[in-house]
Amino acid sequence: MTDDFTWEQDKLYFLPLGGCGVFGANLTLYGYNGKWLMVDCGMGFPDDTMPSIDLLVPDISFLKAQKDRIVGCVLTHAHEDHIGGLEYLWPDLKCPLYATPFAAKMITDKFSEYPWKDQVRLHTVPMGGEIKNLAPFHVSMINVAHSIPEAQSLVITAGNLPPVLHTGDWKMDLTPCVGEVTDEAAFAALGQSEDGVLAIIGDSTNAMLDGHSRSEEIVYKNLVKLFAEYPDSRIFVTCFASNVARIHSVARAAAENGRHAGLSGRSLWRSYEVSKSCGYMQDVPPFLEDREVMALPREKSVLVLTGSQGESRASVAKVARGEHPCIKPEKGDVLFFSALRIPGNEATIDRALTRFWEMDVEIVSNKTVPDTPVHVSGHPYRDELTQLYSWVKPKIAVPVHGEAMQMDHHAELARDCGVPHVMAGQTGSIYTLCPENGVRVIDEVQCGLLAVEGERMVPVDHESLNVRRRITFNGAVVVSLLMDGHGSLKVPPQISALGIVDETSGEGQDILAKAAEAVAKAVENLPKELRLCRDDGAAHEVSEKARIAARKFFHNYCGKRPQTRVHLFV
Ligand SMILES: [Zn+2]
Ligand SMILES: [Zn+2]
Repeated sequence: MTDDFTWEQDKLYFLPLGGCGVFGANLTLYGYNGKWLMVDCGMGFPDDTMPSIDLLVPDISFLKAQKDRIVGCVLTHAHEDHIGGLEYLWPDLKCPLYATPFAAKMITDKFSEYPWKDQVRLHTVPMGGEIKNLAPFHVSMINVAHSIPEAQSLVITAGNLPPVLHTGDWKMDLTPCVGEVTDEAAFAALGQSEDGVLAIIGDSTNAMLDGHSRSEEIVYKNLVKLFAEYPDSRIFVTCFASNVARIHSVARAAAENGRHAGLSGRSLWRSYEVSKSCGYMQDVPPFLEDREVMALPREKSVLVLTGSQGESRASVAKVARGEHPCIKPEKGDVLFFSALRIPGNEATIDRALTRFWEMDVEIVSNKTVPDTPVHVSGHPYRDELTQLYSWVKPKIAVPVHGEAMQMDHHAELARDCGVPHVMAGQTGSIYTLCPENGVRVIDEVQCGLLAVEGERMVPVDHESLNVRRRITFNGAVVVSLLMDGHGSLKVPPQISALGIVDETSGEGQDILAKAAEAVAKAVENLPKELRLCRDDGAAHEVSEKARIAARKFFHNYCGKRPQTRVHLFV
């Protein structure tokens, strides 16, 4: 583990600080002659083992200490796992940012509520453009299709070394509905360049899926067809708010079925407004507000809802709980689930969909209509990866952006494609990328995920979060003891048992009184010289005795081992 490390002249370093091994939190560094180029700054997503945590960001302790060395941060596209960490981490880095118009507007929108927003130097780069003021690096962009407009692969060069292709998130789609197709000629030209390509740092998301990803246009056509199968229903659709092509497809499919489309949820409106200002979504009627759609006849309406991942504050969850102010589904309505289930969110999503089902709302998803998919992936399948390697022919492949299994399958595929040096990415490892020696790990830096909670960011294994997790499962007990200075309790112990008894009920009060008796007895059984609490050691023993007695009492009572704390006053 290193805080600083010794730079070797003209060596190219690669250091992922997130995005390898877990989904999300993409943040990658390239180092050359004492300077860092940063690519993406994403957020991570908590899973079921992290109750009460809303979002995660990569630990950038190492980078903070090196912030004067950062020449800039290039954002490949506007997905949250690539730009969602910026608003939390940028104030510690203050580096210039580079993004295409769509991503730049999304970032500006995110930053608009922060007092430091005027300090940000955010440069808008045209799609497929070049970024020249990142010396010693040079970056040029290649248009790629993805599930958001304006995704870019980066061609990164430093010194006289051959270029590195940082794919970002991509797929091949000749009919992406919104945005550009993947610039296949640019990839092919890279592979034919005189010095060749040093390395591909590549998306592994779908490296376990055979064949070719499906086109966005298929979803559009399927929606047109499937909407027609519900002539009397109100149609709800949930998808990722950033999936502009999908929102656009829903609008077109609605229009073709004689329906008006509306949006419910802030992130969908933000995405729509940004899209319009960038020239997208011009050929569909303006979206309606949710209450306007609900006022229409059912057979004339389509409403897109935020919260495809079951997020508790988004529209799907609110409707599912019956708490949405205007959206109340009726028997016979239908909900199209037009999204991926991000690993870790499955149970939450299923809970929300089950509630819709209980309201007699039919659910349509890729599971129910496998032959007419209502969602397609924005990441390359194995045939697309193989095609990329055959064009680019890199000396090195470093699979990133995936869990271990996906990265390992990507690595195997790269070897099968004849790439001489292959090594899966690992968050926190510093690699050298070298035309002669291939790829090597030379050092490791502090890394991990931090939970963002208000003003603070804490490691996900922080003791406060461990205790919170234990409290979730076992409850918490607080015991207050007041000693009278002569070795006796001045009043009976005061006890709270949070998450264990209902303290407002008579029954709960009885249990607490019995617990107090048990604790008092345990304390009174101690030798008097301890009960006098003349020193810290004695006070500690009294507290500990009380703690164990309380814990034992509640374990006998409900089978739980609550987090137990004692406050002792002498
Ligand atoms: Zn993406
Ligand atoms: Zn991504």
